[in-house]
Amino acid sequence: MTQPLSSLRWALLTVGIFTFLTLPNTFAQPAPNKLAEMEKQLEELQKAVENLRQNQPSTNAPERDSSGLSNRVTGRFSSNRTNDPIARIREEGLEHSKVMETLSYLTDVIGPRLTGSPNLKRANEWTRGKLEDWGLTNAQLEAWGPFGRGWSLKRFSAQIVEPQAIPLIGFPKAWSPGLDQPLVADVVYLDAKGDADLGKYKGKLHGAIVLSSPPRELKAHFEPLANRMMETNLLRLANASEAQTFTLPFSSAGAPEGGRIGIGAGRRGGGSNSVDGARAGTNVTRSGSPENRGGPRGRPLLQGQQRFLSFLAREGAALVVSPSSQGDGGTLFISSASVPGFEGRGGTNSATNGPRVWSTNAPAIPPQITLAAEDYNRLVRMIQQGEKLKMAVDLTVQFHDDDLMAYNTIAEIPGSDLREEIVMLGAHMDSWHSGTGATDNGAGVAATMEAARILTALKLQPRRTIRLALWTGEEEGLMGSRAYVSNHFGFYTNVAKADSASTNSRPRRALTRQPEYGRLSGYFNLDNGTGKIRGVYMQGNEAVRPLFRRWLRPFADLEAETLSLSNTGGTDHTPFDAIGLPGFQFIQDPIEYSSRTHHSNADVFDRIQADDLKQAATILAAFAYNAAMLDEKLPRKPSDEK
Ligand SMILES: [Zn+2]
Repeated sequence: MTQPLSSLRWALLTVGIFTFLTLPNTFAQPAPNKLAEMEKQLEELQKAVENLRQNQPSTNAPERDSSGLSNRVTGRFSSNRTNDPIARIREEGLEHSKVMETLSYLTDVIGPRLTGSPNLKRANEWTRGKLEDWGLTNAQLEAWGPFGRGWSLKRFSAQIVEPQAIPLIGFPKAWSPGLDQPLVADVVYLDAKGDADLGKYKGKLHGAIVLSSPPRELKAHFEPLANRMMETNLLRLANASEAQTFTLPFSSAGAPEGGRIGIGAGRRGGGSNSVDGARAGTNVTRSGSPENRGGPRGRPLLQGQQRFLSFLAREGAALVVSPSSQGDGGTLFISSASVPGFEGRGGTNSATNGPRVWSTNAPAIPPQITLAAEDYNRLVRMIQQGEKLKMAVDLTVQFHDDDLMAYNTIAEIPGSDLREEIVMLGAHMDSWHSGTGATDNGAGVAATMEAARILTALKLQPRRTIRLALWTGEEEGLMGSRAYVSNHFGFYTNVAKADSASTNSRPRRALTRQPEYGRLSGYFNLDNGTGKIRGVYMQGNEAVRPLFRRWLRPFADLEAETLSLSNTGGTDHTPFDAIGLPGFQFIQDPIEYSSRTHHSNADVFDRIQADDLKQAATILAAFAYNAAMLDEKLPRKPSDEK
């Protein structure tokens, strides 16, 4: 139970203190005109108290206006002067924020949170505890899986020791095996364009450190690394159709990359400028293959390394080295180690049924590291100049097989008269391992938690239950949210093909509904980095427009006002959307997401923009509250099911 009268008590107390402080002065000169003045003051105070009483909402009957909403904004944003819940949310979120404190613990103290790792488990437990402290209920770690092996880095350094010392900027790929002992070995550049070129390296790579890819040409940056959505982009989003898919990144000049905003279909990091997504925009498209986001954005995949990995493994290479396929200036982008045997698929077996690198039956692979491009390129050039290089590498890792399950952190703010119904908000807590997962997606986690903190701190009583989900396994393919959605809400199975008379030759799918399918109002996701909210992707759900329009109105001065009928993919709202439930991701400013932080060693706390994150948490809190207070659940898209 909450204590909704406490703010009234504070108001009365404040009035009391005021009276106490002002009255003695007047008592000192008890002239008749002073008495009249005192009476007048008392009268005014009584009026003020009465006003406060009248504005206090009843504890049991939630306040509603004629539209079924209780979120009108009066324009007065101080909780001392207004009872408007959205204005109070705004004040708490912008003036008394704890979001950066939360983020610092998650990123600085707990650190990177690779799925399956002890760090992520610690984050699970810490977030559960924090949410409980703030007064949320049913806080728990909900298992999904089995996922596979955890991995953590114990020790790493790499430097050239001959012919001169060159400390290197690098990082081991996730799930790379370690070395039995520190290694000092010859560095070989595998200068091979195709299989035909491999012959000359046969028998020469045993125990060697192999530079497995060509150097990557770097160019100066004449555009800023950081940017916000330009009016032109917002306008394109506002005018987009439901058939269009928009994904980060937006180029640094603010113009859509390749002249389009929409790139790719349901993948954020794939980085092609294809218009496939613009043509399709169906559930099939949206549920694309987020695993591919493990690959670098906007560059061809490292074909060389993946194609030659089997060869390098057979030849007994001691360590496989590749340049960061993206980024420069010391920033490197990195995800998981490659496994051989499924070449052409990004080396992660993401689109096959082959074992993934975290699988307990993954094939043996050589240790793999990535170097910053400038460092890598220099080593190649030195070798091409005839220098003999020796590299010293220390690489110790630990695999964790004791618990193959992974966990989502779940917690609730219980509802009142509609408590059986649910409004969800969430973000993914897992990250890649070279930074501390600040923009991807510590920011979303901290903002989601902050939204809950705002609501509980204000003791706002929602009608529906508000449920938080901090997902895991997102980076490996939305695994935590997919598992949760199919366990709680529903899943598709393919059934027999439609009869031959039908013009529709697609295999027919049947939706199995879980008990909570009918009870979910909607899900709000935040996973596009540190940038403030600029609007919402409506995922083709036109019916939510008037509601979202109204909910964004109080934040127009914070530049959150664009509603796009288009959809966006690559994150945890898509499993909801895929089974016909209202699931939304916000439109956010890109800031440095693509240029600097997304999956890089620079994805750290210092790249987070505090004011942006406060704004996002505040709007998230308002959306959760508004959705929880409506008379009806959010409208769903018309179903194509018969
Ligand atoms: Zn990511």
